[in-house]
Amino acid sequence: MPVHDPENTCSTRTLSSEADAVETEKHARTRHDMHGQWPRAESVQDFRDNLLAVRKRIEQACERAGRDPSSVRLLPVSKTMDEKHIRLAHEAGCTLLGENKVQEAWQKAQAMNDLTDLKWSVIGHLQRNKARVVARFASEFQALDSMRLAVELDKRLLAEDRSLDVYVQVNTSEEESKYGLALPDVIPFLEQLRGCDALNVKGLMTLAEFTRDEARIRACFVRLRELRDHILDLEPGGYSPHELSMGMSGDFEVAIEEGATVVRVGQAIFGARSLPDEYFWPGIKGENR
Ligand SMILES: *Cc1c(COP(=O)(O)O)cnc(C)c1O
Repeated sequence: MPVHDPENTCSTRTLSSEADAVETEKHARTRHDMHGQWPRAESVQDFRDNLLAVRKRIEQACERAGRDPSSVRLLPVSKTMDEKHIRLAHEAGCTLLGENKVQEAWQKAQAMNDLTDLKWSVIGHLQRNKARVVARFASEFQALDSMRLAVELDKRLLAEDRSLDVYVQVNTSEEESKYGLALPDVIPFLEQLRGCDALNVKGLMTLAEFTRDEARIRACFVRLRELRDHILDLEPGGYSPHELSMGMSGDFEVAIEEGATVVRVGQAIFGARSLPDEYFWPGIKGENR
């Protein structure tokens, strides 16, 4: 490992300052059939009702899996939703919100900085030149997928005297369009992350394959869990990241059955988005949903 390559190595505080056809039965337990059809939440009560319904589904999935519901964190995802709706969600109890695009998140954070307990989690692909923005305000970043980005984030965080909880994004579906590290690259990546003092590596994050086929969705979640378990055995770079961020409105129950500790849920709480998923994940085949 090129320890002195400043592009690819985090400087530590102590060492240096530089630092798809669908069969109905198969997806009976996914909710991809709801895609784009969730009713819009328009009042605090709507949000309370939706949150309660999602929590109930989380509990039921936990029960099936013999898990404690407190081991699953619900991350509401507010991307594309306007300030008015976010304020309603906040009043209903949402204090950490997921946003896919950093610029959108930053604008919302500024517009709602009067809500002092409101924190932001950036869950979408980040370009290196926007690392500075994330370093400034985010409390969590779930799409870490390159060393250059890690180094840049670390540097900017040190400058802000901040730290950031991060999740390494893993491509478990092998779809070319998807972001994230290939499975075999994750352990070496964790080793390289050693020294990024400002990054608290909490776990792994993935998006399942865009399909209604539950077996294929489940296989993605299983891959992530097995990788996490392998990492816990090896502790590469000294890291033992326990968290598994997997599952969205259409598939979070399956994810919980397979070990998810964080589920990222947008539409089942906020209602359907007007922007198609292709906007966030260029290249995905919409007909497979
Ligand atoms: C939008 C988004 C979600 C939530 O998707 P929903 O279908 O609204 O639940 C989860 N993860 C990421 C990375 C997202 O961009």
